[in-house]
Amino acid sequence: MSAIDHLPPLREVIETHELAARRSLGQNFLLDLNLTTKIARQAGSLTECDVLEIGPGPGGLTRGLLSEGARKVLAIEKDGRCIPALAEISDAYPGRLEVIEGDALEINPLSHLTPPIRVAANLPYNVGTELLVRWLTPKTWPPFWESLTLMFQKEVAERIIAQPGSKAYGRLAILSQWRADPKIVIQLPPEAFSPPPKVSSAVVHLNALAKPRYDANADTLSRVVAAAFNQRRKMLRSALKSLAPDIEDRLLAAGIKPTERAEQVHLEGFCALAREMDKT
Ligand code: SAM
Repeated sequence: MSAIDHLPPLREVIETHELAARRSLGQNFLLDLNLTTKIARQAGSLTECDVLEIGPGPGGLTRGLLSEGARKVLAIEKDGRCIPALAEISDAYPGRLEVIEGDALEINPLSHLTPPIRVAANLPYNVGTELLVRWLTPKTWPPFWESLTLMFQKEVAERIIAQPGSKAYGRLAILSQWRADPKIVIQLPPEAFSPPPKVSSAVVHLNALAKPRYDANADTLSRVVAAAFNQRRKMLRSALKSLAPDIEDRLLAAGIKPTERAEQVHLEGFCALAREMDKT
């Protein structure tokens, strides 16, 4: 029995259900329920929210979210071996945990959720980054979620909160800061996981802003930023040349020197440039 619920400790769950971690699924499990509860708390008030959890594994974070009072947790897990362990959690919290076995990159969970919705996940890093970009770039805003609380490799977390002038500043920073307010809320050493990964990790919390910080078309902004940072060492007039023959004029109209490099331009400047690009 653990301190947060009447279920067995996670080590025992892993042993009983033979959940030896698989590297191919990016499995580094959190075994300390005090820590998973602390992460769940960072997601904000949960009692009036449905929570979408991606990659619950043996259920450490799931149990944290439920013990913190989540109205409902919808958990999507790719590894079928974890489903019986998650069913035990579901029995302990009747009607509050729904589990879908499958790939989160291919499942649309929205018909299973009632707003307000928060998202929480400790995911393999590549899947986490791909989902973060998708969650930040829907066609319309505000998105389906109120907040995202996500574990990342520390270096990726630093890219999400990076400011102009730093090496970490790029597409992830701009997309995250345009429509949300990302913060690193917890840092974790490799030993917090079993097995320990090679690098440190960090939990990033992002609240969705009611509207983007500056006007811009999402597709145009993504295109401009991708091109600018693809050749981050080049001056913008050459990095962006393929986007418009009169790029120098458009940069100047957006208040950006054509000789600047992507790394030096603030979010506001990229949004102004996206608006200039959409002028005929
Ligand atoms: N949340 C658990 C924890 O904190 O201990 C497990 C974390 S482990 C880093 C990542 C989990 O995501 C694993 O259980 C893995 O099977 C699952 N996973 C990996 N790729 C996935 C995908 N595409 N869709 C859903 N789950 C996935």
